[in-house]
Amino acid sequence: MANSNTANEATYTNTSILIVGTGFAGLGMAIKLLEMGINDFTIIERAKDVGGTWRDNRYPGAACDVPSHLYSFSFAPNAEWSRVYPIQPELETYLQSVADKWQLRKHIRFNHTLMEARFDEASAHWLVHTSSGDFRARFVISGNGGLAEPKLPDIAGVENFAGHHFHSANWDHNYPLAGKRVAVIGTGASAIQFVPEIAGGPAKLSIFQRTPNWIIPRGDRPYSRFEKWIFKHIPITRIILRAKIYCQNETRVLGMVLHPAIMNLFRFSAVRHIQRQVADPAMWPKLTPNFPVGCKRILVSNDWYPALQKPNVELVTKGIKEIREHSIVTNDNVEHELDCIIFGTGFYATDNPIAGMIYGRDGRQLSQVWKNGEEAYLGATVHGFPNFFFIVGPNVTLGHSSMVYMIETQVQAISRILLEADAKNAATVEVKLDVQQTYNEKLQKILGGSVWATGCDSWYKHRSGKITQLWPGFTFTFRRWNKKFNSADYIFNTANK
Ligand code: NAP
Repeated sequence: MANSNTANEATYTNTSILIVGTGFAGLGMAIKLLEMGINDFTIIERAKDVGGTWRDNRYPGAACDVPSHLYSFSFAPNAEWSRVYPIQPELETYLQSVADKWQLRKHIRFNHTLMEARFDEASAHWLVHTSSGDFRARFVISGNGGLAEPKLPDIAGVENFAGHHFHSANWDHNYPLAGKRVAVIGTGASAIQFVPEIAGGPAKLSIFQRTPNWIIPRGDRPYSRFEKWIFKHIPITRIILRAKIYCQNETRVLGMVLHPAIMNLFRFSAVRHIQRQVADPAMWPKLTPNFPVGCKRILVSNDWYPALQKPNVELVTKGIKEIREHSIVTNDNVEHELDCIIFGTGFYATDNPIAGMIYGRDGRQLSQVWKNGEEAYLGATVHGFPNFFFIVGPNVTLGHSSMVYMIETQVQAISRILLEADAKNAATVEVKLDVQQTYNEKLQKILGGSVWATGCDSWYKHRSGKITQLWPGFTFTFRRWNKKFNSADYIFNTANK
């Protein structure tokens, strides 16, 4: 498929389309290209197998909090999901089976980490430098993942800790926690899943909470053999279930975006959850957030509060002053001696490091263009970066439903643009600046009235305060806006053809 040539003293492998990543986004895009009859594409993957987030996040208890029958490709249903909420190994296997079914592995270059992508004006191609070789591509489609770069906390002395330490996204399964003094920093979606799984092991488990989250009960259960049989042999039942989950999730938009006061209904359920599960009323205030439900991601768990009450577990809420060689010191000057720190401190969501690697027209660096907050048109294209597309770019993440739906929407949208570029015989396609600006002004206006703007810090927000991660509406509206493809929104340039 690919051949090599020499340009600017480097050896490039030529490929028409270069996809970054093999999570839902990268695999979904590749399948769409095959469906369009396009075979000349290459996928680069930094790891040695496919799976993206569901390959990397293999901490104990890792699972998705969107039900399995919705959190999967519409064109690759799976009647065999073991439970309502899919667990990490099942999702990883699912993505591997998708890669195998569509024979995608022959397109994938494993152990190829993206280092730089630079638009070459003269050839109207992207020159892509990776850890294991360079590519020259007409189009680059990045499915790099919105939550793929683990983040360590900006705590004084964090680099000085001499004990064992790892991030939830790089779990060290070889390190025995049994009998150790272990700290967990962070109480987000990842920590509330792994803490209950490990809580019984350490001699002492200290959980450092900066902000409590709103947590509601998790309606999880295994699917019975009978249910799986029905899903397999009467596919309409599976389709109806998917539609039901989808519709239920969409109703949350009413509270999150349109009428944030509705979110108070969830507050009642979340407060009851604390009071039912936590025996000591003195703990209730520590576990009750001071921001509206939904401002930060609503978490689902039945075993987080019970884990906090185990005799060897301590919830530390005084705030961390510094990390020393063998301890964490809190703001009340108490020194917590430790053998191990587990960082459940999330990811670079805004300020994604990939933006520092991408150079568009006139050598402009995407991280500079985005220094006041990321923005794109329909979360996919950025003015000044011709022939470059993001899947799950700015303002595409959801606070209420399945990202796979959004990914499928974007894959369709990108395929429409690729077809149009070919129909117009265009060397490059690029969104118009005014179109991008008008779109983002509209989004920010809607976001300003949403629950996410009601006064909390979250990874949904850039440090400037702008909400750059979330799509502010129904997912079907996102699909409708994408389907209303208007070629006048883009500059199709034939100059280099
Ligand atoms: P996160 O939600 O960003 O949580 C990070 C945690 O670390 C927060 O509790 C945060 O406290 C704390 N933290 C960060 N810096 C700190 C510092 N300097 N000092 C003290 N504490 C600090 O990260 P995550 O739990 O990995 O989850 C990220 C996202 O991944 C989720 O929101 C979700 O979208 C996705 N995810 C989904 C699932 C699922 O489907 N079930 C599971 C895991 C992850 P503050 O709150 O005070 O900032």
